[in-house]
Amino acid sequence: MLTARGHPIAYEVKSTTEVKDVYIKDCALQYMVINHYVHLDDMVLIYIDGDYLESLGKPLNELTEENCDIHKLFKMQSILEEVKAMQPMVEANIERLLPMTWETEEPKVAMGEQCTKPYECEFKLYCNRCAKMEKPSFFKRLFGKK
Ligand code: SF4
Repeated sequence: MLTARGHPIAYEVKSTTEVKDVYIKDCALQYMVINHYVHLDDMVLIYIDGDYLESLGKPLNELTEENCDIHKLFKMQSILEEVKAMQPMVEANIERLLPMTWETEEPKVAMGEQCTKPYECEFKLYCNRCAKMEKPSFFKRLFGKK
């Protein structure tokens, strides 16, 4: 959508009933990337109106055009000021993390809280397998063999 000044607005749609910090962080990166090419007039988060959803008495995956008013289902909130304030942090993180993409070896990082927060990591199965392979077996530990 273009504003009266002819600049676009970016909309991020989430199937959630609340605005979480992690969404704003995601949008801050998107804002930086998009704004690099085209000036954005606004960055808007669209999310589910929990009160309306509750009033329908149906789960999200059972909603249709017949049993739900799509215009009432979503809320919109500008997060432009928040994402603008995060730009120095996003830039610093890119500078810090970009060199990692040039590495040819996997980083040696133990599994931990980062594997599930803020999202379930897609590599968990792989890392679990690697962690088990690196752990010495019970018998090896018992008899002190390597
Ligand atoms: S599961 Fe994901 S977050 Fe956890 S150590 Fe492996 S790559 Fe990193």
